[in-house]
Amino acid sequence: AKEGGKRRFAVFTPAMRDSIVRRHDLKEELAEAISNRDLMVQYQPIVDIQTGEAISVEALVRWNHSDRGRIPPMEFIPLAEDTGLIVPLGRYVLEEACASVVQRSHTLQVQVNLSAIELEHPDLIQTITDVLERTGIAPGRLVLEVTETLLVKDAERGAATLQQLRDLGVQLALDDFGTGYSSLSYLRNLPLDTLKIAREFVEGLAFSDHDAAFVRLIVGLAKTVGLKVVAEGIETRAQLDMLREIGCDLGQGYYFAAPMDVDADWESAPVAAAL
Ligand code: C2E
Ligand code: CA
Ligand code: CA
Repeated sequence: AKEGGKRRFAVFTPAMRDSIVRRHDLKEELAEAISNRDLMVQYQPIVDIQTGEAISVEALVRWNHSDRGRIPPMEFIPLAEDTGLIVPLGRYVLEEACASVVQRSHTLQVQVNLSAIELEHPDLIQTITDVLERTGIAPGRLVLEVTETLLVKDAERGAATLQQLRDLGVQLALDDFGTGYSSLSYLRNLPLDTLKIAREFVEGLAFSDHDAAFVRLIVGLAKTVGLKVVAEGIETRAQLDMLREIGCDLGQGYYFAAPMDVDADWESAPVAAAL
């Protein structure tokens, strides 16, 4: 870049260089991490907000890097999507999560996040079929969480894939509802079981009338069309009280329990928090 004059003309800073190098290195290291099984899965309960009883757990992938420490999914999932590594990564999470939950419980459901890239992959249905078979989990106990981005490129194909998944007997949840390109037509046309209300609306619940009205609307809508509804990111008692008043049935968040290791007690903390 041209030196001299005002600094605002320097468009390529050392910090930008570092970030590009880091992304590049992480992509290579992620490939190794997947084959070395340096990734692990944590589980966050999804509970009946009246009783705190867990009905499901969401599987969340973790990468504890030997040199760099913990890398957040918000950083490495996009890299995995760029490189196609999301496919083996997703398969690992799916298999690990189903196997663990079958071992831990006869009734809990398990929710696994699927990125749009995985949904477009031609092997998806075969992969899910294999995992159901290998782990022996009842299909109805597996809930796949998808976002609306899967419908942006080709809504018809996205809907067809979801229907194929539904035909396997697995359940489908629409994640982060209210952000992105939410549209009422999705609720009408997609074979969904559950709506998850994005954390940002739950965040404002206790102090923003606008957010409270929005959550009320989504909960009412979900119930009208026969969907389960989960409020994400519940962190405070005030938010919980509002959600109970609104009539939301299910919730997830640090107030009940943070994501936990596979061998932790998933059930006690949420019940205590609900009291
Ligand atoms: P998400 O699917 O919306 O998952 C919920 C995120 O919110 C998780 O972050 C969880 O730890 C966090 N969370 C839970 N309760 C609270 C709360 O009360 N307050 C706040 N502030 N946060 C809370 P995490 O684990 O860092 O994951 C971030 C995102 O990365 C996920 O968002 C999901 O989009 C993606 N992700 C995580 N694991 C996987 C995976 O195995 N596959 C795919 N494709 N994506 C994944
Ligand atoms: Ca999710
Ligand atoms: Ca979410």
